[in-house]
Amino acid sequence: MSIQCINISKKFGSFQALKSLNLSIAQGEFVAILGPSGCGKTTLLRMLAGFEQPTTGEIRMNETTVARPGFSLPPEKRRIGMVFQAFALWPHMNVSEHVRFPIRHHRETPSYIRDKEQERMASVLQMVGLSGHSTRMPHELSGGQKQRVAIARAIAAEPSLLLMDEPLSSLDAMLRMDMRREIQSIHRQTGTAIVYVTHDQGEALAMADRIVVMKDGHIEQIDSPQNIYLHPQTEFVAKFVSKANLIRGRWHHDHFAPISSDGTVQWKGDGVAAYFKENGMYPVRPDQFRLSAPGQSGIQGKVTNVQFQGKEFHYHILTEDGQCELSSPEHFRLNDQVTLTLPASEQL
Ligand code: ATP
Repeated sequence: MSIQCINISKKFGSFQALKSLNLSIAQGEFVAILGPSGCGKTTLLRMLAGFEQPTTGEIRMNETTVARPGFSLPPEKRRIGMVFQAFALWPHMNVSEHVRFPIRHHRETPSYIRDKEQERMASVLQMVGLSGHSTRMPHELSGGQKQRVAIARAIAAEPSLLLMDEPLSSLDAMLRMDMRREIQSIHRQTGTAIVYVTHDQGEALAMADRIVVMKDGHIEQIDSPQNIYLHPQTEFVAKFVSKANLIRGRWHHDHFAPISSDGTVQWKGDGVAAYFKENGMYPVRPDQFRLSAPGQSGIQGKVTNVQFQGKEFHYHILTEDGQCELSSPEHFRLNDQVTLTLPASEQL
């Protein structure tokens, strides 16, 4: 199913939760909606589901209008599946009954039930790795298994669009990583478009074909994970997604000289968005900086905090331009003087 949101906005009383949002989602695409708490992610998802009506604008699914002010196609007519953060399982139903319910609801023809239902249920349970657990009740399942049942229920009736609202946030860190892979695999097997709401940039970067970064009810940037990470277009995206340091300095054509360096340092501006050039800034991700002992030209600083993280160290460095955060395999100690540079390919 393809989806178009055209100029949609949403007001709750006098509060503007969504502001003139435009978004197109292609058939089979995996789109992550990423943003901090309260930015309007769930409101957008609830509008796609049909639980909220837009105050202005229009939503189309496969070129047909499903919502505009005063009209909203009800959720059960939209061919969508939903997965929530709280699994919302039915306590009196076992695993296979959770999967059977939406199939019966959507495809109640006796011939489908006779010929296809068992096969469909088996294939869905296999897809989510629950084949051996079909008679278990919700209270007999782990958190990860419960979430798999919720996903199985959502995909059972072959929806054209799967809406997921922070589906992994109540699972522990290890399980979250496993479930990311499983959701990717389910997406590949079903080919269903997915709109996946999260405030976790790692999840969005890892799984989505495209990421929509939202802030205060509007879209800051829509792009591939690589472009969002490597080429942020706004200060908010640079900070929220890549935790970038916004180094202040002067732009001369396409070259940047940080104010806190000795004047010999020049960085290339390829791929740096116009916003930063207009505002005398250069976004540098924590993994982009190189750290060395003082002596070469670069930004000079002092280590104010260091954390060992296995593969590398995470540093806070105080420079003339303020605090910088970076990670490096080189080991320095608290209060050491250090020099920050960019890789040679990014310097003049
Ligand atoms: P979170 O990550 O915390 O779930 P979110 O990005 O999903 O946040 P929304 O739930 O979409 O944010 O809420 C966006 C804004 O709209 C918030 O300020 C919220 O308080 C407000 N809001 C949401 N639903 C309603 C409602 N029914 N009535 C009034 N205000 C609402």
